[in-house]
Amino acid sequence: MVQLNKQTYTSFLQERYNRASEGPLTDFLTRRNGCLYLGNRVNLNDLARRYGTPLEVVYYPQITRQVKQMQTWADQARRETGYAGSFLYAYATKANFAAEVVQTALDAGAHYETSAATDVEIARYLWRQGILPRDRLIFCNGSKDIAYTRAIRTLREDGCTSIVPIIDDLDELAELRACPDPLKFGVRERAAGNRDGTHLGNDRFGLTSAEIDQVAAELQESRHHLVLYHAMIGSQVEDREHFLAMLRESVAAYCRLRQQVPSLRYFNFGGGIPTSGYSLDFDFDYATFLRELMEQIREVCAAYAVPMPDLIGEFGRYTVANHSVFLFEVGKVKAGQHGAPAWYMINGSLMVSMPDTVLVDNQQFVILPLDNWDAPVRPVRLAGRQTCDSDDIYPRPAQEPLLLPDTGSGQVLAVCGVGAYQQMISGRGGAHHCLTPEPRRIAIDEQNGRLLLESKPQQERTAIMRQLGYRPQRVAPPLRMVPRPATRKAALTNP
Ligand SMILES: *Cc1c(COP(=O)(O)O)cnc(C)c1O
Repeated sequence: MVQLNKQTYTSFLQERYNRASEGPLTDFLTRRNGCLYLGNRVNLNDLARRYGTPLEVVYYPQITRQVKQMQTWADQARRETGYAGSFLYAYATKANFAAEVVQTALDAGAHYETSAATDVEIARYLWRQGILPRDRLIFCNGSKDIAYTRAIRTLREDGCTSIVPIIDDLDELAELRACPDPLKFGVRERAAGNRDGTHLGNDRFGLTSAEIDQVAAELQESRHHLVLYHAMIGSQVEDREHFLAMLRESVAAYCRLRQQVPSLRYFNFGGGIPTSGYSLDFDFDYATFLRELMEQIREVCAAYAVPMPDLIGEFGRYTVANHSVFLFEVGKVKAGQHGAPAWYMINGSLMVSMPDTVLVDNQQFVILPLDNWDAPVRPVRLAGRQTCDSDDIYPRPAQEPLLLPDTGSGQVLAVCGVGAYQQMISGRGGAHHCLTPEPRRIAIDEQNGRLLLESKPQQERTAIMRQLGYRPQRVAPPLRMVPRPATRKAALTNP
């Protein structure tokens, strides 16, 4: 069929996103000689050919790059603005707890932010082995039940002085104050969480200003110190000006508290720093953000005549979203009804591999075809062929369909930006929706400039059954009717 007038995938990318078919597509993806490269080094077309699909490709050096890049921007910003405080990069481990991921972030120099009791257990395990070095701070956020406060106390009593519980509720203070060893404390500001009214779930965290004053007063009469002020404004905040405007009042609140509490020295703006993994339209200027943040804080501190605090950012998505990719293949193409876009049915599940497609309003991921960029495009929606669930589709009904090469069955798609939260929410190693097996995982690390590749096979069906309480027996070979010699009968009946 001749389709001369149809837009090709290449011309679509050019017109819609201003990207050429060769060269960088995002800060973690490049296309060269018709192949898609992760981190400019890992040839995804090649991996798809070698291992087949579905496939998960994990590339740890991307994490190192994210951490180092942000530290470099922060150093520049400090120089350019004359910012007197230091900048601390913390990895928010809840984005991805995998041991290799956490260790890579720590090796790149990250501090550690915890969200749960087990998270502190992991920190303790890493701290005792020296993988989490003694000079790194451990920030403990979230509402803390008794298991969480106990884990914090245990680590402190082990001799870890760099742990900083951030009080989210007054009850926690009573538990932690009893710790016989002096602790450094933080307080989390509740007002920051939903200042613009668009981050409703975020205002369940933290303390009112009256509660903060109470914590400060109680700590002043104890062996402990209040050192940190935490103000997180939300998640996936892509508007720089807005981010800074929301933070301004929190900086002023920090300054007022600092006038009363001289031990206060850290201002922690939490998470929310966006990632390039979700859209080719992404356009957030991290370097300018940091520069403006430092300028703003310097200005507000000057107005209150308090020293500039050391700055802390807790980076979850930003650290890990881009380090892994799923490769799925279109198996069946099913025509849409009444002129609606066709269904590209992939050999996996969207809602299992990327649960945020159903959990987060309007969540997107960068999805690119591995080849056929010269083919004409057509509007499609993806459907997970592994499940029988009407919600297992992407984009969601309220979103525009994707434009993908009209090549149908056999087309391999790279789903990017999946390294943060998706695997933790979906769970790892368990039984998933419609028993969708976890795909083969190719994990790539770098040592002395060389890439090392490790392959873990697809999750076995028997392992999934065992999770659910089935004890799969070895399937016996089909019986063959062979006459046995009578003399050996006894031996054969009871093997
Ligand atoms: C989840 C969380 C983060 C990480 O958020 P991202 O938006 O993924 O960077 C940081 N700090 C706190 C307190 C969090 O709860």
